[in-house]
Amino acid sequence: PQSPTNTADNIYVALYDYVARTSTQLTFKKGDKMELINPNEGDWWVVRLIDEVTSQLEGYVPSNYIATCSSLESQPKFELASYKQAKLMKKLRHSKLVQLYAVCTRSQPFYIVTELMCNGSMLYYLKVADFGLARAIKVGLIGPYSYFVSKFVLPELSLCVEYYGNKLDENPQTDGLSHEFADKYEGDHSEFKLGKKLGEGNFGKVFEGLWNGTTKVAVKTLKQGTSEQESFLKEAKLMKKLRHPKLVQLYAVCTRSEPFYIVTELMCNGSLLDYLRDHEDLNQLILIDMAAQIASGMAYLETNNYIYRDLAARNILVGKNNCVKVADFGLARAIKVGLIGFEEIYESTSKKFPVKWSAPEAALQKNFSIKSDVWSFGILLTEIIGKGREPYPGWDNKEILPQVESGYRMPKLPDCTDSLYAIMLNCWDADPKKRNSFETLLCKLEDAY
Ligand code: AMP
Repeated sequence: PQSPTNTADNIYVALYDYVARTSTQLTFKKGDKMELINPNEGDWWVVRLIDEVTSQLEGYVPSNYIATCSSLESQPKFELASYKQAKLMKKLRHSKLVQLYAVCTRSQPFYIVTELMCNGSMLYYLKVADFGLARAIKVGLIGPYSYFVSKFVLPELSLCVEYYGNKLDENPQTDGLSHEFADKYEGDHSEFKLGKKLGEGNFGKVFEGLWNGTTKVAVKTLKQGTSEQESFLKEAKLMKKLRHPKLVQLYAVCTRSEPFYIVTELMCNGSLLDYLRDHEDLNQLILIDMAAQIASGMAYLETNNYIYRDLAARNILVGKNNCVKVADFGLARAIKVGLIGFEEIYESTSKKFPVKWSAPEAALQKNFSIKSDVWSFGILLTEIIGKGREPYPGWDNKEILPQVESGYRMPKLPDCTDSLYAIMLNCWDADPKKRNSFETLLCKLEDAY
């Protein structure tokens, strides 16, 4: 969250339209001005709308939807992206990176002043300049779309401005449903009206739901009278701690009475596996972009010492505009918590164990690490490039481990480029230490793009 300033600079402007979800929230339009009344340190702030007619209107607004009038965030998006790139370039100094000399951002047009590459082509400049944006994705300052798009059209500056305008104008995900859920997460069943069934998972059915009559959500329910209660609650607890634009966000839980609910953001296009199989027309650029988005979510888990343990297309969810997020934290664990209880859930001899996605050391010695997740990511890449093709098609689970142990690797798929296949083979290195980190994978996928 932004931290509010307590200077005189307390006039804010809305960056997006927003429709109130509760009676304590405000509805506002992009460009509306508001005065900050009570900035708490959370994600929802109290403001007063500055408007001649309704000047008394006060209420909560999501803090990532507003910016101080004078701040750069309220400037047109292209300037914002360039500004953020400049900020990152400032930190990155290397003889082989174009050096940032200065910025002029007090008035428009904004300038980023860099070293002049007198003999270098524009392309060379771009390649190095990309570095700044690549880092930006990692820290979540701008979405991968804007990055890839900028790489695509940057030579045509006017096109680029237009594209930023369209893409980035989409409303961001708010942090939580409202300020009431900020710390407690616990809700009442009556607040969530269940609609159509979206799917069924390990614990029970998943429904589309409507919160407070205003906001669409996904509701994961636990079958009554099962022994899975503890794992179900563990999943919710873990999701609470993990926040990243590429991880499905937890909104609330209902655990005061059965059936238990886990309420999360709704991903309107369901699981990536089904989506890939239903959309034959997805082109390579979109597929690689999706892979990069997943790598970005996984890089966040990597930095926070979590292992996911079940990375596969079935556990990735798809929203609008081919936006994908990592979901289903049922098996994920903080490394420090250890592996207690794992065998009960996913016994490696049981049918449920995802043998085709597992690194040999994970399947055989239960040696799970972020590097066994990297192995699974390589398999997930084959699902993505193969548009939902099953890994090792036609093979029985029993055949796979001995073959993989003796060095067999899935061959290159017809639609796979050499550079992507090289990425996959590295994910499947017998030595976990030699496999790339997710951070490196993210950079490599950007290059492949
Ligand atoms: P899970 O229990 O997480 O394995 O979910 C089972 C199925 O429910 C998934 O394969 C999706 O089709 C659907 N689903 C789960 N969570 C969501 C969500 N947040 N948004 C949309 N569909 C979901």
